[in-house]
Amino acid sequence: MKKILVLEDETSIRSFVVINLNRAGYEVIEAGTGVEAFEELRNHPDIKVAILDIMLPDTDGFEVCRKIRTADPHIGIIMLTARTQEMDKVTGLMTGADDYITKPFSPAELTARVDALFRRTGIVDVPDSGELVQGPFRLNTKNRTLEKNGERIKLTQVEYSIMKMFMDNPGTALSREDILNTVWGRDYFGELKIADVNIRRLRIKIEDDPTNPTYITTVWGFGYKWGL
Ligand code: CA
Repeated sequence: MKKILVLEDETSIRSFVVINLNRAGYEVIEAGTGVEAFEELRNHPDIKVAILDIMLPDTDGFEVCRKIRTADPHIGIIMLTARTQEMDKVTGLMTGADDYITKPFSPAELTARVDALFRRTGIVDVPDSGELVQGPFRLNTKNRTLEKNGERIKLTQVEYSIMKMFMDNPGTALSREDILNTVWGRDYFGELKIADVNIRRLRIKIEDDPTNPTYITTVWGFGYKWGL
């Protein structure tokens, strides 16, 4: 069941989103306030992706995002941002969102983003040896979890995918395009910046000193490299 929560108080925008997601084969649960959104998430624990507007009557989308993410590291979250709110993209991603869509957006863009995120959150890994161990890091590819020095680090699905890509390619410079294609998919509509923001967030979680990263190093003008 492909179930999505849409939290948006403007009914015209919400209908637009709902109609297009229905057409793309999704079952959509609607909410107009933060309170309603949490109620629906409790009623429908099988919701896999949440689309969150930022300006809401009772709270803001970042707060909703933060709370959903704390409760569920695996759900996919897309923020709806206004064109003028450039900073919202970064803030949203830093509070745990996986992606953002800037208003106004086309039905094609909406469904492409949702499809891409759905594919990632719905990934069922083929059983394999199940572990990648490098330095202090232990990545469990069955449970999609990461430990550093035996301590669990909570990752979003996107962060996990980036981490897996790095650990599969130690010592190799990966371009931002490579990362975007592998993690978000080739049909992804977004900007390269989304890779940078997610890596910034990943560094905060895994580096000893995120301001002076040693595991994920920057390859200037190109991308990133994983090393120990
Ligand atoms: Ca709104």
